[in-house]
Amino acid sequence: MNYGLIVIGGGPAGLKAACSAAEKGLKVLIIEREAQLGGILKQCVHDGFGVIRFGEKLTGPEYAYRDITEVKRLGIECLTGTFVTGICDKDGGFVVETTSAQGIRSDFTEKIALATGCRERTPRQVNIHGTRPAGVLAAGACQNFVNLKGLLPGKRAVILGSGDIGLIMARRLTLEGAEVIGVYEAKATPSGLQRNIRQCLDDFGIPLHLKTTVTDVYGDKRVEAVRVSAVDDSMNPVGEGEIVECDLLVVSVGLIPENELAEKLGLQTDPATKGIAVDQYMMSAGKEGVYAVGNALHVHDLVDYVSEGAATAGADAANTRKRSLVKVGAEGLMYVVPQYVDVSDANEKKTFYMRAPRDMAVASVKLYADGELVAERKLKNVKPPEMLRIQFKFRASDSITLRLEEEE
Ligand SMILES: Cc1cc2nc3c(=O)[nH]c(=O)nc-3n(C[C@H](O)[C@H](O)[C@H](O)COP(=O)(O)OP(=O)(O)OC[C@H]3O[C@@H](n4cnc5c(N)ncnc54)[C@H](O)[C@@H]3O)c2cc1C
Repeated sequence: MNYGLIVIGGGPAGLKAACSAAEKGLKVLIIEREAQLGGILKQCVHDGFGVIRFGEKLTGPEYAYRDITEVKRLGIECLTGTFVTGICDKDGGFVVETTSAQGIRSDFTEKIALATGCRERTPRQVNIHGTRPAGVLAAGACQNFVNLKGLLPGKRAVILGSGDIGLIMARRLTLEGAEVIGVYEAKATPSGLQRNIRQCLDDFGIPLHLKTTVTDVYGDKRVEAVRVSAVDDSMNPVGEGEIVECDLLVVSVGLIPENELAEKLGLQTDPATKGIAVDQYMMSAGKEGVYAVGNALHVHDLVDYVSEGAATAGADAANTRKRSLVKVGAEGLMYVVPQYVDVSDANEKKTFYMRAPRDMAVASVKLYADGELVAERKLKNVKPPEMLRIQFKFRASDSITLRLEEEE
């Protein structure tokens, strides 16, 4: 079959990109490897989704349901239970290869949106020593067991890492009757949103131990204990630490954009986000016609902004642009997305997403064009876990830089 846009991944990013493209008249196909659409939202039974987009606190499935209803209303074709195994260039477009219970299939599309979400960092990626007993789980996998399969994977849990998923699972496991001994975080400040620290730990009396990590796992068939140790400023364990008895270690040590397909296409990636480098329409800087949206582009903390970026990409898929790209310099920032801007439509308001490298009480983000300050935004209470979203108008120029500066 021939399509105007094939969207790979049926999570909130893929659903919204598909709807926006279909509204512009494109023939769209969504390909999802799981049996149902909705992505990670299917297992997020807590509320807090959609406050910005809908002005309501929805659960993950409720948020996904709204977009799935829209996909159905627009008559968008969906292949579920179908895994994308390869993409290659052909005749100015792309051939997408899939495999499913029905067999192998190839489709042609003019444009592609990569909406494949992200992966969880594993315990092996954070150097925990010991045997490989049962009972060591990534936080998302633990959430899947509890919320989708109705299984409680342990009764006495230690949580390593204070990312949002770990915090949410600390509360979830407690509500399901497990004892959560504590959350251990190697950094000096928590990685999750402030509201999750309050609602998931403080409200349930679960202690958060900063500058502390898990160094060893003990147990043969099943986890019996872990060793927790304080760390120095370079995050190296100091002293002997202490043994904490537990039968479950939940690891929540970060997410990485899922970019296997982007690698197959040889797309330029940004080492800071681990996603591909894009312009303000989320189109790959290196390859026209390929978009990346949602957590496949950069890890978001709020789904509302996932949908916002995906809507921009989907609507743009119906356009033909002659691009004139300028790289966006990022100074004093952990990263900025987009990494490039197409200055052919300068003077229009564009949205930039960025993260600060550390806490700042008062700061400002300044936009420079050809070295001249053209716009500035004051910010209060800046924290790395909370993504910054700033809209700027910029003018056509040869260089654009965003600089984050701490103020007194
Ligand atoms: C545990 C947890 C709690 C969260 N809590 C909140 C919250 O309270 N409030 C909030 O606003 N946000 C929250 N978020 C963030 C928000 O849910 C995510 O940012 C959002 O779901 C990301 O959407 P996505 O579409 O990019 O990715 P996903 O939802 O991960 O969807 C990606 C989809 O792509 C599919 N896929 C991947 N590879 C292939 C392939 N090769 N072929 C076919 N299909 C493929 C996957 O199966 C999946 O369905 C939370 C996230 C998590 C993980």
